[in-house]
Amino acid sequence: MMLQTRERFDVDSPFKRPSRPRGRRHRVAVIGAGLSGLICARTLADLDCEVTVFEKSRGVGGRMSTRRSESDLQFDHGAQYFTVRDERFRRHVDTWIEEGLVAPWEGRFVKLNRGYLEESNGETTRFVGVPGMTAVCRHLATDLDVRFGTTMAPPRHDGTAWIVEDAAGTSQGRYDWFVTSAPAPQSAYLLASVPHLEVKARRVSMSGCWSVMVAFKSPLDAGFDGAFVGVSPLSWIARNSSKPGRGEDFETWVLHASPEWSESAIEADHEEVVKELLDALWQVTGLQPVEPKHAAAHRWRHALPAEPLGDRFLFDPGLRVGACGDWCNGPRVEGAFLSGLALAGRLVCTMAAETPHARNCSTFASPGP
Ligand SMILES: Cc1cc2nc3c(=O)[nH]c(=O)nc-3n(C[C@H](O)[C@H](O)[C@H](O)COP(=O)(O)OP(=O)(O)OC[C@H]3O[C@@H](n4cnc5c(N)ncnc54)[C@H](O)[C@@H]3O)c2cc1C
Repeated sequence: MMLQTRERFDVDSPFKRPSRPRGRRHRVAVIGAGLSGLICARTLADLDCEVTVFEKSRGVGGRMSTRRSESDLQFDHGAQYFTVRDERFRRHVDTWIEEGLVAPWEGRFVKLNRGYLEESNGETTRFVGVPGMTAVCRHLATDLDVRFGTTMAPPRHDGTAWIVEDAAGTSQGRYDWFVTSAPAPQSAYLLASVPHLEVKARRVSMSGCWSVMVAFKSPLDAGFDGAFVGVSPLSWIARNSSKPGRGEDFETWVLHASPEWSESAIEADHEEVVKELLDALWQVTGLQPVEPKHAAAHRWRHALPAEPLGDRFLFDPGLRVGACGDWCNGPRVEGAFLSGLALAGRLVCTMAAETPHARNCSTFASPGP
């Protein structure tokens, strides 16, 4: 058994079998502190791996984060809510509900199209983080070693370990395993020394999304809390302050531009985007324009994958490298979660096959890619 594993490493990999001393914990570098990276890191850390997470921004959450303004207003400027289809995800969501991290958003949801309004509540339960979308990621990151403000360069292997450096060339250590959870184009870049995985990540294109965050002193008489918008620069409008646990003094709204509009204006000036999307808001709702107390725009350059890979994650056991994220098998919060969880399962199974260190392989009945 041992011999077979050794042979596989030598055949599949240009690298020699890594020489991790017996008994030492597996060291894993995870790039990205969004949901997929954090559930992967959390799972590995709970199974006694030594995990370090590198995140280029100043906080956790990635596209599921909450933005706080200088005047202390908060906006879910990326993911708006999430739904639950998969039983494995449901089990986690149930515990988050019990812990008060997540609650259903019981608003009125509609479709707005060419001046027509159609109800869109249906049977779907829409969950949100409380008091902001970041709550779940913040919870998962508890006690993890997360290095914020650290933009990573592509790791390289020296034959025994992954050499991990940030974009400034500062060493961030040596690791047995390397995982990227960045959006597909950024993961492709980070996988530069693993060409067969890089090429797969590069195949997934991701569209941009402009998000505008506005606050009004008096409530707008819109008559809904969330609206899917057609035939407009906008694709989504949400009364952010109608989500549970927000408790704002002002009424806050988040406006998302459609992928087409966002792509055509991807290099536009932030102020110009605010103006155009506010104009679109008044136009699609028929409301009288009101001057907001606060308005800001955020550009998501890699918001949503056009067509995910169709694999739950990418993995090379020989090179000890993996990639996860919503771009692998599902362009949503749930897809990101399941991707990171499944990759952690596969890593642990591979570690277990190598050493008796991690024995919980059967916990993760992951279908894998
Ligand atoms: C505008 C918008 C609206 C959305 N609405 C919904 C919705 O309503 N419902 C839903 O289910 N989903 C929605 N989504 C999708 C959802 O947000 C994502 O599917 C999910 O959050 C992706 O998680 P992830 O971990 O795969 O990636 P991310 O959250 O993107 O995490 C990747 C992390 O990697 C970091 N990173 C990248 N490169 C580097 C580097 N070189 N070094 C260090 N760190 C790096 C990034 O900063 C980021 O924090 C929306 C997304 C957007 C953008």
